[in-house]
Amino acid sequence: EGFAKLGITGALLKATHAAGFDMPKPVQVQAIPAHLAGRDVLAVAQTGSGKTAAFSLPILTKIVALGTKRLPKTARALILAPTRELAVQIEDTIRVLAKGLHVSTALVLGGVSRYSQVKKMAPGVDILVATPGRLTDLVREGEVNLSDTRWLVLDEADRMLDMGFIHDVKRLAKATHKDRQTALFSATMPVEIEGLARGIMKDPVHVEV
Ligand code: AMP
Repeated sequence: EGFAKLGITGALLKATHAAGFDMPKPVQVQAIPAHLAGRDVLAVAQTGSGKTAAFSLPILTKIVALGTKRLPKTARALILAPTRELAVQIEDTIRVLAKGLHVSTALVLGGVSRYSQVKKMAPGVDILVATPGRLTDLVREGEVNLSDTRWLVLDEADRMLDMGFIHDVKRLAKATHKDRQTALFSATMPVEIEGLARGIMKDPVHVEV
């Protein structure tokens, strides 16, 4: 029954219930056990399907198990989103699910001052939610280091393609740790996204809801 049966435990399970999530949605039922088992996940899922918790709960599970020691300027997990609005929403959801867990998050977005973003990244964070353009700049400037990033999520990958971010996304993926685990969520699966998935994922579990 519920999220416990999918492998979510302890304080994270409590926070999930406190957030009002009692019954997992289909994308969560399919994606969470696969991700917890260490598999890459390639999911066709629409906005409103519950995809944010589907990729966030397994990453939170693994980050909680690591403890709080972080390396400067690094992010243990990176979530890339096409727009500022979506990135802000994702971070909000993660903060609700991570309540009481001592997990740090940061946002790196275009269109706002980079100073506070650089400052936030300086000690290193657990989960970085970013749009590809600004993050590419901060990586190039040496303010963010992705070499120890073991979890990567591309959310709304088709919209990142439409917005011209595909090269940034590929470069950012290449800059993460080579033994990372990757999840890609997209409302549609055009050939360019299939090609991207082949380039950056290893034998992904396919999820379709
Ligand atoms: P998302 O597709 O991630 O944007 O989620 C869409 C909406 O569904 C959000 O408002 C979530 O808070 C909500 N939601 C996600 N998973 C669940 C769940 N298992 N039970 C109830 N609400 C959920």
